[in-house]
Amino acid sequence: HFITFEGGEGAGKSTQIKLLAERLEKLGQATLVTREPGGSPGAEIIRHLLLSGIGRLIGGSEAEALLFAAARDDHVRTLIEPALARGVWVLCDRFYDSTRVYQGKLGDVSPALLNALQDVTIGAMKPDLTAILDIPVEIGLKRAAVRRGNAAPDRFEGENADFHRKLRNAYRQIAMAEPERCVLIDAEGEPKLVADRIWLAVQDRLLG
Ligand code: C5P
Repeated sequence: HFITFEGGEGAGKSTQIKLLAERLEKLGQATLVTREPGGSPGAEIIRHLLLSGIGRLIGGSEAEALLFAAARDDHVRTLIEPALARGVWVLCDRFYDSTRVYQGKLGDVSPALLNALQDVTIGAMKPDLTAILDIPVEIGLKRAAVRRGNAAPDRFEGENADFHRKLRNAYRQIAMAEPERCVLIDAEGEPKLVADRIWLAVQDRLLG
């Protein structure tokens, strides 16, 4: 199975993905934890370019969207598809919902271009389950600031609270529009509690 994790900054995606992988491994299920942008060696190089802010230098958001797509194309072909073919469960930190939200709803990349890029990079392939981690904006931003410490925000982290409110709404809309694929997870509270909420959804949707 292919499970993706989505949500804004500080929602706890990477913590939760690790906890789910541990749970599955304990049950004897081989898992692969990966992330976007990045995941494969080539895509990690593109990630580095993207987070360093190359989008501001190369002609704007469409060119930037092409880089995200190039990273996804490599990641899907060299890592995700081969793992799924071996029966490994793939847990991915962000996937195409991030593109739809960040580059689409909150950015200025047209739906036509995003659809075309989606066709090329993933075609008909879809996550079996997408956990959308939902958290009040202030709490998420606080968590992200603590994690970052003294480091400067990356190209995308510097946005203001209004941006993060829109982000949260955009993710909620996806969860409502595609209830058979997505589950909205209350991501407030202790990581273990949140992990239990995710586990219930996995059991219900994929193991039941
Ligand atoms: O989740 P992670 O911190 O690894 O994501 C890296 C950054 O890239 C985030 O700040 C996120 O907002 C941004 N991003 C984006 N568009 C995507 C995926 C990630 O702007 N499609």
